[in-house]
Amino acid sequence: MATMNEKDYYAILGVSKDASARDIQKAFQQKARKLHPDVNKEPDAEERFKEVSEAYAVLSDEQKRARYDAMRSGNPFAGAPSANPYAGGYSGGYQGYTGSPFGVPFGGAQRRGSAFNPEAGADVVVDVDLSAVQAKNGARRAVKYRRYEPCDRCAGSGSVSSGSSHTCPSCGGTGSVEVDLSFLFGAGMFQTVCPECGGSGRVISDPCPECGGSGRTPVVTEAVIEFPPDTHDGDMIRVKAMGHAGTNGAEGGDLVGRARVASERLEGPARTGFYLIGFALPFLILFAVSGIVSLVTFICLAMVVSGIVSIVRAGVRDRSRLWWKRGLEQIVSGCANGLLLAFISVSFASCSRGMMMGAMPL
Ligand SMILES: [Zn+2]
Ligand SMILES: [Zn+2]
Repeated sequence: MATMNEKDYYAILGVSKDASARDIQKAFQQKARKLHPDVNKEPDAEERFKEVSEAYAVLSDEQKRARYDAMRSGNPFAGAPSANPYAGGYSGGYQGYTGSPFGVPFGGAQRRGSAFNPEAGADVVVDVDLSAVQAKNGARRAVKYRRYEPCDRCAGSGSVSSGSSHTCPSCGGTGSVEVDLSFLFGAGMFQTVCPECGGSGRVISDPCPECGGSGRTPVVTEAVIEFPPDTHDGDMIRVKAMGHAGTNGAEGGDLVGRARVASERLEGPARTGFYLIGFALPFLILFAVSGIVSLVTFICLAMVVSGIVSIVRAGVRDRSRLWWKRGLEQIVSGCANGLLLAFISVSFASCSRGMMMGAMPL
Protein backbone atom coordinates (compact mmCIF):
# COMPACT_ATOMS: atom_id res chain seq x y z
CA MET A 1 0.00 0.00 0.00
CA ALA A 2 0.98 3.62 -0.33
CA THR A 3 2.74 4.82 2.73
CA MET A 4 2.61 8.00 4.66
CA ASN A 5 4.86 10.31 2.69
CA GLU A 6 3.47 9.28 -0.70
CA LYS A 7 0.15 10.91 -0.01
CA ASP A 8 -0.62 14.57 0.26
CA TYR A 9 -2.91 14.62 3.27
CA TYR A 10 -3.36 18.36 3.01
CA ALA A 11 -4.70 18.02 -0.52
CA ILE A 12 -6.94 15.12 0.52
CA LEU A 13 -8.56 17.28 3.20
CA GLY A 14 -8.41 20.37 1.00
CA VAL A 15 -6.54 22.55 3.49
CA SER A 16 -3.34 24.56 3.26
CA LYS A 17 -0.02 23.39 4.75
CA ASP A 18 -0.31 25.84 7.60
CA ALA A 19 -3.95 25.11 8.43
CA SER A 20 -4.83 25.30 12.12
CA ALA A 21 -6.09 22.30 14.07
CA ARG A 22 -9.57 23.80 13.92
CA ASP A 23 -9.46 24.21 10.12
CA ILE A 24 -8.37 20.61 9.78
CA GLN A 25 -11.15 19.34 12.00
CA LYS A 26 -13.72 21.42 10.12
CA ALA A 27 -12.49 20.27 6.72
CA PHE A 28 -12.54 16.65 7.85
CA GLN A 29 -16.00 17.03 9.32
CA GLN A 30 -17.36 18.31 6.04
CA LYS A 31 -15.73 15.62 3.92
CA ALA A 32 -16.49 12.75 6.27
CA ARG A 33 -20.18 13.69 6.49
CA LYS A 34 -20.47 13.51 2.73
CA LEU A 35 -18.47 10.33 2.35
CA HIS A 36 -19.59 8.23 5.29
CA PRO A 37 -20.54 4.77 3.96
CA ASP A 38 -23.90 4.94 5.76
CA VAL A 39 -24.81 8.08 3.84
CA ASN A 40 -22.96 7.90 0.55
CA LYS A 41 -23.69 4.88 -1.63
CA GLU A 42 -21.23 5.72 -4.41
CA PRO A 43 -18.86 2.81 -5.05
CA ASP A 44 -15.70 4.70 -4.14
CA ALA A 45 -17.17 6.47 -1.12
CA GLU A 46 -15.80 3.97 1.37
CA GLU A 47 -12.31 4.13 -0.11
CA ARG A 48 -12.37 7.92 -0.07
CA PHE A 49 -13.76 7.94 3.45
CA LYS A 50 -10.83 5.80 4.58
CA GLU A 51 -8.40 8.11 2.86
CA VAL A 52 -9.91 11.19 4.44
CA SER A 53 -9.87 9.47 7.84
CA GLU A 54 -6.26 8.49 7.36
CA ALA A 55 -5.36 12.07 6.50
CA TYR A 56 -7.22 13.28 9.53
CA ALA A 57 -5.62 10.67 11.81
CA VAL A 58 -2.23 12.07 10.90
CA LEU A 59 -2.91 15.78 10.64
CA SER A 60 -5.08 16.03 13.76
CA ASP A 61 -2.27 14.69 15.90
CA GLU A 62 0.40 17.31 16.51
CA GLN A 63 3.27 14.86 16.73
CA LYS A 64 2.22 12.76 13.76
CA ARG A 65 1.70 15.88 11.71
CA ALA A 66 5.19 17.17 12.54
CA ARG A 67 6.74 13.84 11.59
CA TYR A 68 4.70 13.74 8.40
CA ASP A 69 5.79 17.23 7.40
CA ALA A 70 9.39 16.34 8.16
CA MET A 71 9.22 13.18 6.08
CA ARG A 72 7.77 14.99 3.11
CA SER A 73 10.41 17.65 3.37
CA GLY A 74 12.97 14.90 2.86
CA ASN A 75 14.41 15.05 6.33
CA PRO A 76 13.04 12.24 8.47
CA PHE A 77 14.97 13.42 11.50
CA ALA A 78 13.62 16.91 11.65
CA GLY A 79 10.90 17.49 14.16
CA ALA A 80 9.60 20.78 12.87
CA PRO A 81 7.34 21.34 9.91
CA SER A 82 9.26 22.26 6.80
CA ALA A 83 8.64 25.08 4.38
CA ASN A 84 9.04 22.77 1.41
CA PRO A 85 6.86 19.70 1.71
CA TYR A 86 7.59 18.60 -1.86
CA ALA A 87 11.36 18.32 -1.63
CA GLY A 88 11.34 14.66 -0.70
CA GLY A 89 8.09 13.83 -2.42
CA TYR A 90 8.16 10.77 -4.57
CA SER A 91 5.27 9.80 -6.70
CA GLY A 92 4.70 7.65 -9.70
CA GLY A 93 7.04 4.95 -8.44
CA TYR A 94 8.70 3.13 -11.27
CA GLN A 95 5.69 3.17 -13.56
CA GLY A 96 7.58 5.26 -16.07
CA TYR A 97 9.09 2.05 -17.30
CA THR A 98 5.82 0.25 -17.96
CA GLY A 99 5.24 -0.26 -21.63
CA SER A 100 8.91 -0.04 -22.53
CA PRO A 101 10.25 -1.64 -25.70
CA PHE A 102 10.83 -4.83 -23.74
CA GLY A 103 7.14 -5.26 -23.27
CA VAL A 104 7.48 -6.78 -19.85
CA PRO A 105 4.91 -5.69 -17.30
CA PHE A 106 6.60 -4.30 -14.25
CA GLY A 107 4.51 -5.27 -11.27
CA GLY A 108 4.40 -3.50 -7.95
CA ALA A 109 5.05 0.17 -7.42
CA GLN A 110 8.24 1.13 -5.66
CA ARG A 111 7.51 1.65 -2.01
CA ARG A 112 9.01 4.79 -0.66
CA GLY A 113 8.95 5.57 2.99
CA SER A 114 10.35 4.41 6.25
CA ALA A 115 7.99 1.48 6.69
CA PHE A 116 9.66 -1.81 7.49
CA ASN A 117 7.62 -4.32 5.52
CA PRO A 118 9.47 -7.46 4.48
CA GLU A 119 7.47 -8.86 1.57
CA ALA A 120 8.59 -11.57 -0.85
CA GLY A 121 9.43 -10.36 -4.37
CA ALA A 122 7.23 -11.37 -7.30
CA ASP A 123 8.24 -13.51 -10.27
CA VAL A 124 9.02 -11.74 -13.54
CA VAL A 125 7.59 -13.50 -16.60
CA VAL A 126 9.28 -12.87 -19.94
CA ASP A 127 7.98 -14.24 -23.26
CA VAL A 128 10.73 -15.60 -25.47
CA ASP A 129 10.12 -16.33 -29.17
CA LEU A 130 11.65 -19.58 -30.36
CA SER A 131 11.69 -21.03 -33.85
CA ALA A 132 10.50 -24.60 -34.32
CA VAL A 133 14.13 -25.71 -34.68
CA GLN A 134 15.26 -23.85 -31.57
CA ALA A 135 12.40 -25.38 -29.62
CA LYS A 136 13.29 -28.85 -30.83
CA ASN A 137 17.05 -28.61 -30.26
CA GLY A 138 16.98 -26.37 -27.20
CA ALA A 139 18.27 -22.79 -27.07
CA ARG A 140 20.15 -20.39 -24.83
CA ARG A 141 18.54 -16.99 -25.01
CA ALA A 142 19.60 -13.73 -23.38
CA VAL A 143 16.70 -11.58 -22.26
CA LYS A 144 16.66 -7.96 -21.19
CA TYR A 145 14.05 -7.08 -18.61
CA ARG A 146 13.29 -4.87 -15.66
CA ARG A 147 13.37 -5.98 -12.08
CA TYR A 148 13.87 -4.72 -8.56
CA GLU A 149 17.37 -5.54 -7.40
CA PRO A 150 18.51 -5.61 -3.77
CA CYS A 151 19.83 -2.12 -3.00
CA ASP A 152 23.65 -2.00 -3.08
CA ARG A 153 23.95 0.75 -0.56
CA CYS A 154 22.06 -0.94 2.28
CA ALA A 155 22.46 -4.56 1.13
CA GLY A 156 18.70 -4.88 0.77
CA SER A 157 17.79 -4.08 4.36
CA GLY A 158 16.48 -0.58 3.66
CA SER A 159 18.41 0.82 6.60
CA VAL A 160 21.69 2.52 5.87
CA SER A 161 23.92 1.87 8.85
CA SER A 162 22.23 -0.19 11.50
CA GLY A 163 20.18 -2.49 9.31
CA SER A 164 17.52 -2.41 11.95
CA SER A 165 13.98 -1.34 12.55
CA HIS A 166 12.09 -0.06 15.54
CA THR A 167 8.51 0.07 16.71
CA CYS A 168 6.41 2.45 14.66
CA PRO A 169 5.85 5.65 16.64
CA SER A 170 2.51 6.38 14.93
CA CYS A 171 0.72 3.21 15.95
CA GLY A 172 2.96 1.89 18.70
CA GLY A 173 3.49 -1.35 16.80
CA THR A 174 -0.13 -2.37 16.34
CA GLY A 175 -0.15 -1.57 12.61
CA SER A 176 -3.37 0.40 12.74
CA VAL A 177 -4.40 3.81 13.96
CA GLU A 178 -7.70 4.95 15.38
CA VAL A 179 -9.48 8.14 14.53
CA ASP A 180 -11.87 9.54 17.07
CA LEU A 181 -15.08 10.26 15.21
CA SER A 182 -17.30 10.73 18.23
CA PHE A 183 -17.52 14.50 17.64
CA LEU A 184 -18.91 13.70 14.22
CA PHE A 185 -21.28 10.79 14.47
CA GLY A 186 -21.63 10.32 18.18
CA ALA A 187 -20.37 6.77 17.84
CA GLY A 188 -16.79 5.95 18.63
CA MET A 189 -13.62 5.14 16.84
CA PHE A 190 -12.70 4.42 13.30
CA GLN A 191 -9.75 2.12 12.62
CA THR A 192 -7.47 2.40 9.62
CA VAL A 193 -4.16 0.86 8.52
CA CYS A 194 -1.27 2.83 9.96
CA PRO A 195 -0.01 5.11 7.19
CA GLU A 196 3.52 5.33 8.55
CA CYS A 197 4.43 1.65 8.73
CA GLY A 198 1.87 0.36 6.24
CA GLY A 199 0.47 -2.05 8.83
CA SER A 200 3.69 -3.85 9.78
CA GLY A 201 4.07 -2.02 13.09
CA ARG A 202 7.74 -1.31 12.45
CA VAL A 203 9.70 1.45 10.73
CA ILE A 204 13.26 1.60 9.44
CA SER A 205 15.66 3.24 11.88
CA ASP A 206 17.61 5.23 9.30
CA PRO A 207 16.05 4.86 5.83
CA CYS A 208 18.57 4.36 3.03
CA PRO A 209 18.53 7.38 0.68
CA GLU A 210 19.23 5.17 -2.33
CA CYS A 211 16.15 2.92 -2.07
CA GLY A 212 14.10 5.08 0.28
CA GLY A 213 13.89 2.31 2.88
CA SER A 214 12.40 -0.43 0.73
CA GLY A 215 15.70 -2.23 0.29
CA ARG A 216 15.41 -2.57 -3.46
CA THR A 217 15.97 -0.45 -6.54
CA PRO A 218 14.60 -0.70 -10.09
CA VAL A 219 17.09 -1.72 -12.77
CA VAL A 220 17.15 -2.98 -16.34
CA THR A 221 19.06 -6.21 -16.36
CA GLU A 222 19.96 -9.17 -18.53
CA ALA A 223 19.85 -12.89 -17.89
CA VAL A 224 20.32 -16.05 -19.92
CA ILE A 225 17.47 -18.54 -20.08
CA GLU A 226 18.29 -22.05 -21.15
CA PHE A 227 15.45 -23.84 -22.94
CA PRO A 228 16.14 -27.59 -23.03
CA PRO A 229 15.64 -29.69 -26.18
CA ASP A 230 12.03 -30.60 -26.91
CA THR A 231 10.62 -27.34 -25.55
CA HIS A 232 7.03 -26.60 -26.48
CA ASP A 233 4.96 -23.45 -26.75
CA GLY A 234 3.88 -22.29 -23.32
CA ASP A 235 6.64 -24.16 -21.44
CA MET A 236 8.13 -22.14 -18.59
CA ILE A 237 11.74 -22.17 -17.46
CA ARG A 238 12.63 -20.73 -14.07
CA VAL A 239 15.83 -18.91 -13.22
CA LYS A 240 16.03 -18.85 -9.44
CA ALA A 241 16.06 -15.52 -7.61
CA MET A 242 16.34 -13.43 -10.79
CA GLY A 243 12.82 -11.97 -10.39
CA HIS A 244 11.98 -8.99 -8.21
CA ALA A 245 13.92 -8.68 -4.97
CA GLY A 246 11.78 -8.71 -1.83
CA THR A 247 11.47 -5.62 0.33
CA ASN A 248 13.63 -5.17 3.43
CA GLY A 249 15.63 -8.32 2.79
CA ALA A 250 12.70 -10.66 2.14
CA GLU A 251 13.07 -13.51 -0.35
CA GLY A 252 13.14 -12.63 -4.05
CA GLY A 253 11.04 -14.03 -6.89
CA ASP A 254 12.21 -15.97 -9.96
CA LEU A 255 12.67 -15.02 -13.58
CA VAL A 256 10.28 -17.12 -15.65
CA GLY A 257 10.98 -17.53 -19.36
CA ARG A 258 7.84 -18.53 -21.26
CA ALA A 259 8.48 -20.14 -24.63
CA ARG A 260 6.50 -18.86 -27.59
CA VAL A 261 6.78 -21.21 -30.54
CA ALA A 262 4.87 -19.76 -33.50
CA SER A 263 4.40 -23.10 -35.27
CA GLU A 264 2.71 -24.46 -32.16
CA ARG A 265 0.55 -21.48 -31.35
CA LEU A 266 -3.04 -21.87 -32.39
CA GLU A 267 -4.30 -18.34 -32.91
CA GLY A 268 -6.71 -16.19 -34.86
CA PRO A 269 -8.68 -17.59 -37.80
CA ALA A 270 -7.29 -21.12 -37.48
CA ARG A 271 -8.42 -21.29 -33.87
CA THR A 272 -11.88 -20.01 -34.87
CA GLY A 273 -11.92 -22.49 -37.74
CA PHE A 274 -11.50 -25.48 -35.47
CA TYR A 275 -14.15 -24.09 -33.16
CA LEU A 276 -16.66 -23.60 -36.00
CA ILE A 277 -16.22 -27.17 -37.18
CA GLY A 278 -16.85 -28.42 -33.66
CA PHE A 279 -19.87 -26.16 -33.29
CA ALA A 280 -21.55 -27.36 -36.52
CA LEU A 281 -20.87 -31.04 -35.82
CA PRO A 282 -23.80 -31.85 -33.48
CA PHE A 283 -26.26 -30.19 -35.91
CA LEU A 284 -24.91 -32.13 -38.87
CA ILE A 285 -25.20 -35.38 -36.93
CA LEU A 286 -28.73 -34.43 -35.93
CA PHE A 287 -29.68 -33.78 -39.57
CA ALA A 288 -28.03 -37.02 -40.69
CA VAL A 289 -29.91 -39.04 -38.09
CA SER A 290 -33.29 -37.35 -38.63
CA GLY A 291 -32.92 -37.15 -42.42
CA ILE A 292 -34.38 -33.62 -42.37
CA VAL A 293 -32.53 -31.17 -44.59
CA SER A 294 -33.26 -27.49 -44.05
CA LEU A 295 -31.64 -24.10 -44.46
CA VAL A 296 -29.86 -24.67 -41.15
CA THR A 297 -28.20 -27.76 -42.64
CA PHE A 298 -26.62 -25.61 -45.34
CA ILE A 299 -25.54 -22.98 -42.82
CA CYS A 300 -23.81 -25.69 -40.81
CA LEU A 301 -22.12 -27.08 -43.90
CA ALA A 302 -20.95 -23.55 -44.77
CA MET A 303 -19.50 -23.22 -41.25
CA VAL A 304 -17.52 -26.43 -41.68
CA VAL A 305 -16.22 -25.35 -45.08
CA SER A 306 -15.18 -21.89 -43.88
CA GLY A 307 -13.57 -23.49 -40.84
CA ILE A 308 -11.50 -25.80 -43.05
CA VAL A 309 -10.54 -22.90 -45.33
CA SER A 310 -9.34 -20.81 -42.35
CA ILE A 311 -7.24 -23.70 -41.05
CA VAL A 312 -5.69 -24.46 -44.43
CA ARG A 313 -4.94 -20.77 -45.00
CA ALA A 314 -3.13 -20.52 -41.65
CA GLY A 315 -0.96 -23.40 -42.85
CA VAL A 316 -1.13 -27.01 -41.76
CA ARG A 317 2.30 -28.09 -42.96
CA ASP A 318 5.07 -28.41 -40.35
CA ARG A 319 2.55 -28.07 -37.55
CA SER A 320 3.50 -29.95 -34.41
CA ARG A 321 1.39 -32.43 -32.54
CA LEU A 322 0.75 -29.80 -29.89
CA TRP A 323 -0.84 -27.55 -32.53
CA TRP A 324 -3.20 -30.30 -33.66
CA LYS A 325 -3.98 -31.18 -30.06
CA ARG A 326 -4.95 -27.55 -29.44
CA GLY A 327 -7.09 -27.67 -32.58
CA LEU A 328 -8.84 -30.77 -31.26
CA GLU A 329 -9.48 -28.97 -27.97
CA GLN A 330 -11.17 -26.17 -29.91
CA ILE A 331 -13.32 -28.70 -31.78
CA VAL A 332 -14.38 -30.27 -28.48
CA SER A 333 -15.13 -26.86 -26.99
CA GLY A 334 -17.16 -25.81 -30.06
CA CYS A 335 -18.93 -29.16 -30.06
CA ALA A 336 -19.96 -28.76 -26.43
CA ASN A 337 -21.54 -25.38 -27.16
CA GLY A 338 -23.15 -26.64 -30.38
CA LEU A 339 -24.57 -29.61 -28.53
CA LEU A 340 -26.06 -27.36 -25.90
CA LEU A 341 -27.70 -25.14 -28.52
CA ALA A 342 -28.92 -28.18 -30.48
CA PHE A 343 -30.42 -29.61 -27.30
CA ILE A 344 -32.13 -26.32 -26.43
CA SER A 345 -33.59 -25.90 -29.93
CA VAL A 346 -34.82 -29.50 -30.10
CA SER A 347 -36.52 -29.32 -26.73
CA PHE A 348 -37.94 -25.89 -27.59
CA ALA A 349 -39.34 -27.25 -30.86
CA SER A 350 -40.92 -30.30 -29.24
CA CYS A 351 -42.21 -28.19 -26.40
CA SER A 352 -43.95 -25.67 -28.68
CA ARG A 353 -45.29 -28.51 -30.81
CA GLY A 354 -46.69 -30.09 -27.64
CA MET A 355 -48.28 -26.80 -26.62
CA MET A 356 -49.86 -26.38 -30.01
CA MET A 357 -51.27 -29.90 -29.83
CA GLY A 358 -52.57 -29.22 -26.35
CA ALA A 359 -54.26 -26.04 -27.50
CA MET A 360 -55.86 -27.72 -30.45
CA PRO A 361 -59.54 -28.67 -30.00
CA LEU A 362 -60.05 -32.41 -30.34
ZN1 LIG B 1 2.54 2.19 12.34
ZN1 LIG C 1 19.07 1.02 0.14
